[in-house]
Amino acid sequence: MSRSIGELHGVGPALKKRLESLDINTIDDLVWHLPRLHEDRSQLTSVVDIEEGMDVNVKVKIDKVGVRQAFRHRRMQIAEAVVSDETGSIKVIWFNQPHIATTLKVEDEVLLAGKVKRTKYGLSIQSPVYEKVATGRATVHTGRIVPKYRLTAGVTQKQMRYFVKQALERIGPMADYLPAPIRDSAGIIPLDHALQQAHFPESAEQHAAALFRLDFDRIYIRQLYSQVQRLEVEQQSATAIAFNEAATKEFVSSLPWPLTNAQRRVAWDIFQDLAKERPMNRLLVGDVGSGKTVVAAMALFQTVKAGKQGVLMAPTEILAKQHYASLTSMFEGFDISLELHTGSTKTNKLQDQLIEPDIIVGTHALIQKGVNFKNLGLAIIDEQHRFGVDQRRRLKEQSGDADTMPHLLSMSATPIPRTLALALYGELDLSIIDEMPAGRLAVMTRVVPPRKRADAYEFVKEHLKQGEQCFILCPLIDPSDTLGVKSVTAEYDQLSKGPLAGQSLAMLHGKMAPREKDAIMEQMRAKKIDVLVATSVIEVGVDIPDATIIMIEGAERFGLAQLHQFRGRVGRSDRQSYCFLFTDSPSESTTERLSALVSSNDGMKLAEKDLDMRGSGEVLGTEQSGYSEVAMLAVQQPALLAAAQAAARLSIADNWLQKSAPLQAKMNAFLQSVHLE
Ligand code: ADP
Ligand code: MG
Repeated sequence: MSRSIGELHGVGPALKKRLESLDINTIDDLVWHLPRLHEDRSQLTSVVDIEEGMDVNVKVKIDKVGVRQAFRHRRMQIAEAVVSDETGSIKVIWFNQPHIATTLKVEDEVLLAGKVKRTKYGLSIQSPVYEKVATGRATVHTGRIVPKYRLTAGVTQKQMRYFVKQALERIGPMADYLPAPIRDSAGIIPLDHALQQAHFPESAEQHAAALFRLDFDRIYIRQLYSQVQRLEVEQQSATAIAFNEAATKEFVSSLPWPLTNAQRRVAWDIFQDLAKERPMNRLLVGDVGSGKTVVAAMALFQTVKAGKQGVLMAPTEILAKQHYASLTSMFEGFDISLELHTGSTKTNKLQDQLIEPDIIVGTHALIQKGVNFKNLGLAIIDEQHRFGVDQRRRLKEQSGDADTMPHLLSMSATPIPRTLALALYGELDLSIIDEMPAGRLAVMTRVVPPRKRADAYEFVKEHLKQGEQCFILCPLIDPSDTLGVKSVTAEYDQLSKGPLAGQSLAMLHGKMAPREKDAIMEQMRAKKIDVLVATSVIEVGVDIPDATIIMIEGAERFGLAQLHQFRGRVGRSDRQSYCFLFTDSPSESTTERLSALVSSNDGMKLAEKDLDMRGSGEVLGTEQSGYSEVAMLAVQQPALLAAAQAAARLSIADNWLQKSAPLQAKMNAFLQSVHLE
């Protein structure tokens, strides 16, 4: 219901357009157009203390003012004034702004902010920002801590400040969605006060308090959401799946290798959750190749032994098929029925029938399709951080027993530092696999300079001869004139005619039909393809044990966490694997990023480094970049996170979500945004 900026003094049609280009349409928008930074112009200098080169703020009286022609540039007009305070006087010059000589009058009291230079006529303040001082009116541009805004062509800082000032006056006292008792206990200031001080702070302390309040808001509502979700799940009932020691031993001893300690530990977390009569709600985080699938299999095995069904969902058909293949081989010899349901095997038909096999593997679409399980006890979702509220409700309805909720396990290969996970996914319990299976050699990573490119292809050919395979990753699908970045189609042509002629090459990218992609991946697995030239579609979870080399073109275009994910496509057997990074733009940050990758194989360390270097957007994957700001805040300001968590607890304990309509509205808006994630 906010009013248009057209109402403001000084905003005509032209300025309205310009402001709109900054997404400022309403008075509210203007109030939320927070400054990029502030400049402290509050420290005043006496004229007598002025020295050459200083940036000064002075409060002075105009003694003389006029316009003259510049000596050398005849067409340039110069406004000149002599100003003074009780300690002395100094000259002021403005180039090309003759109107100033009529705006400012002798005897006016003004504040000036500008640089002091020396000319042959002595010291002068050059082109300062000026503002008349009037009794009873606070200054906006000078003599205070002054906001500086993001602008667009044709809007000046002075104009923007003038508009924001008016907007702040018009909104008046603002309703605060945060109940006063919660504010008081968290030690934060009211929202309208915070907005005033965020723009025009009276002091550095007030400014800090304002930012704390605004940051608090972003974290608090997410914490409240998490805690509400957690309570909701805790109030549900689930069928307890007792720990079956004998069955677990039998299953584990059938594996070709012993479990790692980390696998044991997280499996134990999961078994304990399953044995409870309320649903598990756990996130399993483990670096690429850390062996999450077998942990999932152990949980599914328990579930089936207890007479319930389990479902495993993956983000893509390729991965669903891969999981199906892994589970089929792990459960061989056990009396367990498995079925794969992906789009291509007609998930639609499932809607009318009861799903009966012990274990169902499919894509995330499986729950969207409204299928009905006979008695679903456990749902596992790979490469998704959380079950949405809707997904959970549907699972419950479709589980075969509408009174109980299935146990839920999410798995993620995105290394999330624990602090970040707690800030973002507070409603989930967390298990981390922080250890790789033994005998796994670290992937040898090198940045390859252009002159060594030919050698790299020779190296690839040598390894292909040993029955190994190679991925070549390009940032683009088709060539682009403007970017000069390698593309899958051009690279495929170039390599199959040139350096890798005679090898079996194939392409994989997102424009291909799912069936085509599957066929390619199957050929890769069957070793009918030696070299796969691909886009980042191969990013998540793909398991080709004989692939030992990955070449990454345009490495500067990927984030650290993403590069580490790509590298995880190789090094999945006991053979030495290699990752070659190519880049044409060795900027400082690229070099730092790539050398971090060369020197570390630890996804969690790299994630932390990534957080340090460029905000957490990359850690979480670009599709979740909406988190980044919030995540950064939480990680950088533990005090803020703690305050928000405490406030969320208090809000629930005191029933504020029931008592306060504005808080409810705020939460509903947030729920909408979470559903869209
Ligand atoms: P991710 O965590 O990336 O999903 P996977 O479950 O696909 O990893 O496992 C990666 C590879 O490691 C698979 O080929 C799997 O068979 C193997 N693996 C899993 N656990 C172990 C272990 N304890 N020892 C040796 N190899 C293992
Ligand atoms: Mg996996």
